[in-house]
Amino acid sequence: MVSGKNMGEKPRSASMEAIMGIIKNTFGETSKLVFETLLKIGREVQDEDLAMHAGLHVSEVRRILYKLSEHGFVTSRRVRDRETGYYIYFWRANTEYLPQILISRKKTVLNKLMERLKYEETYIFQCSSCSSEKERFSFDDAMINDFKCPRCGAQLEPVNNAVTVKSLRELVERLRRSVEADEKRLYNRGS
Ligand SMILES: [Zn+2]
Repeated sequence: MVSGKNMGEKPRSASMEAIMGIIKNTFGETSKLVFETLLKIGREVQDEDLAMHAGLHVSEVRRILYKLSEHGFVTSRRVRDRETGYYIYFWRANTEYLPQILISRKKTVLNKLMERLKYEETYIFQCSSCSSEKERFSFDDAMINDFKCPRCGAQLEPVNNAVTVKSLRELVERLRRSVEADEKRLYNRGS
């Protein structure tokens, strides 16, 4: 097992916490453990060593490493063993690529929020009578129908979504700024 002394280990950043969260939610707790152990070791390592450190079976670790590498979280270097002729793989966390993973995740969430916001801002009327149907109408739809429900003829009413719209706008704005800051940090690095 890895020794308890981690004197040289840097405190984990907020973005690394986010990466851990993504790995856990996407691939499960064991994958998170494998990735965490790889980070802790902090250098290239063979799957057998990693399995030993993580206290897991090597076949499981191998399966997880391939899955993680498909998604860019880890990377490997292949070396041919001169004696056996077999390839040996050395694994490490793909730390250079991790910020990009985070940015692309944030952008996905941002797009979903923006779609939701657009919906909330566009479909602003609903029927006062059959509103349980949850059908909503844009201003133009409502106007064409003389502000009456096309199904039952009752009056169409404005949707009471001001709070939702406000909080969605704030979320979108916060996330957009966060993505901008991340990209600035990533692409201005070393220049
Ligand atoms: Zn109706």
